[in-house]
Amino acid sequence: MDVRVKKKKMIISQETMDVDFVRKVEALSDTSVRRCFQCGKCSAGCPMATFMEHPPNRVVRLLQLGQWQRILAGRSIWYCASCETCSTRCPNKVHLASIMDALRKLSWDAEGPSKESYVQLANKLFLQNIRTYGRQYEMRLAAVFNVKSGQFLKDMMLGPKLFAKGKLKMFHSKNKNLAEIEKIFSRIDEMRKKGEAL
Ligand code: SF4
Ligand code: SF4
Repeated sequence: MDVRVKKKKMIISQETMDVDFVRKVEALSDTSVRRCFQCGKCSAGCPMATFMEHPPNRVVRLLQLGQWQRILAGRSIWYCASCETCSTRCPNKVHLASIMDALRKLSWDAEGPSKESYVQLANKLFLQNIRTYGRQYEMRLAAVFNVKSGQFLKDMMLGPKLFAKGKLKMFHSKNKNLAEIEKIFSRIDEMRKKGEAL
């Protein structure tokens, strides 16, 4: 997702509305985006709102206005902690936590991780490691993350300290129950294909 979209002037017209995208989010989240009447109770209770560039109610508003690219290129959806406070507070039964999940899923499917969403890259690599090794392989996670995100020296100084404390290992053995773990991943892949999982 091209992050430059965030800096573009926002133009709202009938042509920029994207009901199809809203329907897609509604289908994935099993809740209504269009029902939100912008009372702001979700954002008032959200523990992560201060870190987001668009607080939860604005995420919904941008969706309603067809500005979904602005959301996917931003970091708000990645700061959401899935605590569900917003969904609990909403007087209109908009399940905003599920909308955030759906947006993360759609961002995942969109082209490449944006600079604003390194967490997406970290998530992917984290799960790849679990699928390959049956457990987390921190050394590989950090190394591949740094290379793929183009931050080659990120946290380099922490490495020796973690090695010294035995928190980081150069080599990892595979989990002996790897076949069982693969079954879980395969089952989720199947569910995704059928649209039964995000
Ligand atoms: S609490 Fe519900 S209705 Fe109010 S702004 Fe948030 S999502 Fe919309
Ligand atoms: S689920 Fe996400 S958006 Fe909703 S209140 Fe929690 S952190 Fe905020």
